[in-house]
Amino acid sequence: MTKAPWILTAIMTAATLAAAAAAQTKPPTTREMALICWQEFGELVPARVRTVLVPFGSLEPHGVIPNGTDSLAPEAMARDIAVRVDALIAPTLNYGVTEAMKAYPGAVSIPAAAYAPFAEAVLDNLAANGFKNIIVLNGHGGNTAVLNEAATRVANARRVRVLVVNWWTLADDITKAVFKENGGHAGNNETAYMQAIVPGHIHPERYKPEMATPNPAPSGAYYAVPVPSTILLYEKGQGYPTFDAGQAKEYFRKVNDRVAELVLDTIKKWDLAGVFK
Ligand SMILES: [Zn+2]
Repeated sequence: MTKAPWILTAIMTAATLAAAAAAQTKPPTTREMALICWQEFGELVPARVRTVLVPFGSLEPHGVIPNGTDSLAPEAMARDIAVRVDALIAPTLNYGVTEAMKAYPGAVSIPAAAYAPFAEAVLDNLAANGFKNIIVLNGHGGNTAVLNEAATRVANARRVRVLVVNWWTLADDITKAVFKENGGHAGNNETAYMQAIVPGHIHPERYKPEMATPNPAPSGAYYAVPVPSTILLYEKGQGYPTFDAGQAKEYFRKVNDRVAELVLDTIKKWDLAGVFK
């Protein structure tokens, strides 16, 4: 006996729907876009996962912690919060704009004129792949202006939502609570965050307090290239690295909690407003 064509179509439709439903409830085999296969990606985005985390970093000197700190920090952050915010993680952009620090050994700086279109193309492609919420986890202040501009253009052109997070500024009050003082570039805050991730690559034996210089005060008072120190204190007399393992753990957890909270809250507000849904 042969089945009528409409029955076959109905069976096939039911099977397709069941497969789609299964794909929607099954957790992803990985959160990393670089590890996922294209078939699974196609099943997940945007039907099941609408959010992506993209770490943007830099390769530049950082006191006595790794040159890749600005990439390693947001990458670890992305891995820690991806499940909580139900997101995939795009590969990290390990290079950034760091003209004022390129004099130091091992630094690589991409000029803003080359970096801007590259960064924008990455965000644009993520939108084209179906992500509705693109969360830029920025690890480097020199990238911020370029990233804000790229975010604005891609959001409005592609009708997606883009959030650029500068974690060290977002965590300002956490820094002050954990260390009882302000932080600095490669200071107590960044050093602690890195100590929590790669304790074997922190070098207190190379550290001397005179390696630190306060940022110009008042802001804009002067500008030096190359920067005279790679530990740059936000405030004079505060922000020196502490190398305390307990503080490192506490800081890592509190910063990540704060970033996850911002991401979830911002998406909730975008949904509530109904913008670029
Ligand atoms: Zn840094």
